[in-house]
Parts: sequence; C-alpha cells; structure tokens
Amino acid sequence: MDKIIIENLEFIGTHGVFQEEKNLGQKFLVSVEMTTSTREAGKTGDLTKSTHYGFVADDIEKIFLGNSFDLIETCAEEIATMILRKYPLISEVKVCIKKPWAPIKKHFDFVAVEITRKWHKAYISLGSNMGDKKENLLKAIENIKNLPDTFVTKQSTILETEPYGYTNQDMFLNGCIEIKTLFTPQELIQKLLEIETIMGRKRVIKWGPRIIDLDIILFDDEIINEENLTVPHPYMCDRLFVLEPLFEIAPYIIHPIKRISIMEIKNILEKSSNS
Ligand code: ADP
Ligand code: MG
Repeated sequence: MDKIIIENLEFIGTHGVFQEEKNLGQKFLVSVEMTTSTREAGKTGDLTKSTHYGFVADDIEKIFLGNSFDLIETCAEEIATMILRKYPLISEVKVCIKKPWAPIKKHFDFVAVEITRKWHKAYISLGSNMGDKKENLLKAIENIKNLPDTFVTKQSTILETEPYGYTNQDMFLNGCIEIKTLFTPQELIQKLLEIETIMGRKRVIKWGPRIIDLDIILFDDEIINEENLTVPHPYMCDRLFVLEPLFEIAPYIIHPIKRISIMEIKNILEKSSNS
C-alpha cells in the first residue's frame, strides 16, 4: 500500500507526569505514517480521492495543544483514533511522538512512543435457540452496531439448524456478520460477552440452550491462543451452522491455520458428513 507521511511536526506541549512538565511545557515531535491508496488521486490529480495532510496536521495540533496528557501513550492513541475515524481512506496509521527534552538525567537524542493502529476485519457467528430467536439475533446485531468504532459491513441470512453437542433442545437460528472495528480481539470478546449478559444469557449447560451466543470466528488473519480466547474459533471447521452463513459472506477468506478457503472447508465437511 501507499503511505502519506508527516514527519516531525514540532509543538511545545504540556504532556508529562511531572507538574513541571505541565507548567513549563517542552518540545515534542509528532510523526504519522498513514497507509492508503494514492493511485486514483495520483492519476486524476483530484485531492478528494486522497487525504489532505494539511487537514490532518491541523487535527493533530488540536489534540496536541488542546490537552495535557500525563502519558504520550495516551496522546498517540488519541491521534491514531482520530485519524482512523475521521479519514476514511486511511486503513492503518503509525504515530510516533518524540520527547527530546524528557526530564531524565541522561544524554539522549529523544525518548519516543510509537504505535500502529488499524481497522480490523472480524467475523462473528450468532446463534439463538430460546425465546424469540430471530428477534434475539437482530437485537444482538443492533447492539454490535452500537459499539464504538465498530461497523457491521456484511450480514448473512438467518438459517435454522439442528442443535449441536447437547441435542435435547430446541432448533437454533444462526447467522454470521462481518465487522470493521478498532477493538483488539480481547476488547471485542469482552464487549460480546457483555452484550450476551445484557441480553440475559446464562451459562448453565455446556452447549445448552441460549438466548444468544456470539463467537469470534476470525479476526484479520490472526492466530490467538489465550486462556479466554481462541481464534480462529476452534470448532468452526466442524460446524456447518457456522460455515454456511460464513460462506455466504466470505467464501474466499483463507483460514489462517489450514491455509484453505471457507468454501473448501465447507465442501470437506459436507463430503465427510455425507459419507
Ligand atoms: P460456546 O460458544 O462454545 O457455546 P460459550 O459461549 O459459553 O461457549 O463461551 C465460553 C467461553 O469461550 C467464553 O467465556 C469465551 O471467553 C471463550 N472463548 C474462547 N474463544 C472464543 C471465541 N473465539 N469466541 C467466543 N468465545 C470464545
Ligand atoms: Mg460462545
């Protein structure tokens, strides 16, 4: 991808944990590297097809001079979020804040914080087999839409499926959505579990009846193995009720461990369950 770069914007700011830093102010250098495509603007000469670095610099200045953060980490986070929210052509941004006069009794050129933030693409599988199931799925999607910095970009149809695991229970309705989000995987799973709880989910029987189940199936092409979170979802390849709606909205996405597409995974499962 292409980059638009602003290097070492200079400010006298009042960020820092010490009172002296807030009173006196000191020099900061802010750099941003924005990932985008400049191809169309480059070919047509039309700036509306690109991102105006002058506007970005003005917006950085507003955050920088309008606040007095203890940490440059916070300042960097605010700048990165602002750019990704406000400039839709930017998919990823690197922000570096240098503090050449940081109050430490050492010789150095500068201390700095550098962060990279981007829009993530994730797939969430939804299931319900209690109460008004369709209403539950739609309400969950509405709740996900209302999360900050999160957009539902694709939505599958809703399918009726047989229960899995604990089979002595009502039929399920299942669906799948694609989202665009600034949340990390851990932040996203916390938000989804909160939505489940708000909607009245109680965990009684493993794989038992539920008002709503929200699982992260894929998150970019990340492979995550943490105590409370496994991505890609460990059972996705064995569950047609996950693969069918996922196939509708993302047939060619590659499973980051198996290295084959959702279409192929679904075909393999269908063949093995028919034989
Ligand atoms: P299931 O979805 O298998 O029926 P639950 O919805 O009760 O099970 O989830 C139990 C736990 O699974 C959650 O507390 C969550 O932390 C964990 N978990 C691990 N990986 C994932 C994932 N990819 N998506 C959703 N939950 C996950
Ligand atoms: Mg779950």
